Amino acid sequence: MNIVLMGLPGAGKGTQADKIVEKYAIPHISTGDMFRAAIKDGTELGLQAKSFMDQGALVPDEVTIGIVRERLSQADCEKGFLLDGFPRTVPQAEALDGILESLGRAIEHTINIQVDKDELVARLSGRRICKSCGASYHLIFNPPAVEGKCDKDGGELYTRADDNPETVTNRLEVNMNQAQPLLDFYQAKGVLTNINGQQDINKVFADLDALLQSGRS
Ligand SMILES: [Zn+2]
Repeated sequence: MNIVLMGLPGAGKGTQADKIVEKYAIPHISTGDMFRAAIKDGTELGLQAKSFMDQGALVPDEVTIGIVRERLSQADCEKGFLLDGFPRTVPQAEALDGILESLGRAIEHTINIQVDKDELVARLSGRRICKSCGASYHLIFNPPAVEGKCDKDGGELYTRADDNPETVTNRLEVNMNQAQPLLDFYQAKGVLTNINGQQDINKVFADLDALLQSGRS
């Protein structure tokens, strides 16, 4: 069960990743975790990655890909794995194919959790904070009882600059532009499955689960 899971910020990828790895007992491999582990273990590639990160520079692909190769070669990945946050680019996806081929394996499922842009903006810009006590609400996921007022003290709720719909939209568009070539790459290979992320969390997982149970996508 070798899975690549993709989805824009706000699509619910993290929640679904947690559910998949719990049910299928496979490791959840995110780029951040891989870097942290390689640095902690003091591997040569880990040290190289650290030297770039310490300078505030992007870790070059050859280092990232080397770290992915080391991670996927570990024993706990034998039953499968869920990759999250890698690959991010077409060259990384091609490198991943090469790594898996050298391990005698292949990706079985490339899954994109799909949510409309308007819905993503609503999700990502829905946070409201109380001016007096700092309590946090969300217009969709955790709305206050009375619009614009804190449940605890009636304080006025405000939107942080970061959560402004315009800021959120700009950030999202950058992400969409980065993700599109990768989606096109997997689509062209005929291995991409889109899952409707605009449903109840449990229904999204039921769809994912049905796909994973069905074997190769
Ligand atoms: Zn309050």
